[in-house]
Amino acid sequence: FKGKQKKDLRQDEKRFADVGGCLKAKEALLEIIEYIRKPEVYREIGVRMPKGVLLYGPPGTGKTLIAKAAAAEANIPVIFSSGSEFVEVFAGLGAKRVRDLFKQARALSPCMIFIDEIDAVGFHRGSASVMGGHRESETTLNQLLNEMDGFQENDQIIVVAATNLATSLDPALLRPGRFDHKIEVTLPSVEERRDIIKIHLRNKPHSASDEELLKLAKIMEGASGADLENLINLATLSAVRKRGTQQKISMTGDDLIQFALGQKQTQTQQA
Ligand code: ATP
Repeated sequence: FKGKQKKDLRQDEKRFADVGGCLKAKEALLEIIEYIRKPEVYREIGVRMPKGVLLYGPPGTGKTLIAKAAAAEANIPVIFSSGSEFVEVFAGLGAKRVRDLFKQARALSPCMIFIDEIDAVGFHRGSASVMGGHRESETTLNQLLNEMDGFQENDQIIVVAATNLATSLDPALLRPGRFDHKIEVTLPSVEERRDIIKIHLRNKPHSASDEELLKLAKIMEGASGADLENLINLATLSAVRKRGTQQKISMTGDDLIQFALGQKQTQTQQA
């Protein structure tokens, strides 16, 4: 049983080959992970290791996926957390959770801490969204800043945070020695959309050609990686529904294109 569980976990592991596009983000994260793994090499040549990386961009563009994949490529564990977990109504609890998170990371290092929705704690202090008594999130933010200031290169911890709202982040978070590496993760271009579609079709029965997939990618203008993953999943479900689970299914390029056009039409009617 143990063996099976291990195998399943590995199958679930995402690598860079599972991320379409996002080249800049992949490169930047790999470089930083190199620092973490060999801090002494970089120290010798006088390079300061970045402590934090901020991935920002629209929802569903793969920010979480890239962080996960980078850690897997580097073979280091990731501790997942979310800014919203730190924003607690009980005084001091958010700050305590931040402290516990870094304590856990120090025990696991070299490792990555991933904080999704950093904006939940890192809103610009004194901005309209925080005014009116969100002191608790301020205490939490201060704790996060303290922890980041406190750890040293030999702690071998990298903090990767993600947000859709980079502009409203507190400038204190973005100062050197904190999240000083900012990487934009944009919506995919047409070629990137095709690559993402290919990734999600990898284990699905289909006979679509490259040309047809490019046509599909063009139809899906404005879609995020998450939208494309959802499209392929729904198209496969629909093919199974039509042909039944007893029969072998194989989606043609045209099946996929017609399905996408149908979805687009429904969305326009609903809008
Ligand atoms: P949010 O800002 O809403 O938290 P996110 O940017 O972190 O979103 P993910 O959670 O990483 O996005 O993406 C959701 C899912 O969409 C992924 O698990 C993956 O299946 C798919 N996906 C998104 N981007 C890509 C991509 N570039 N390549 C392949 N799959 C992608």
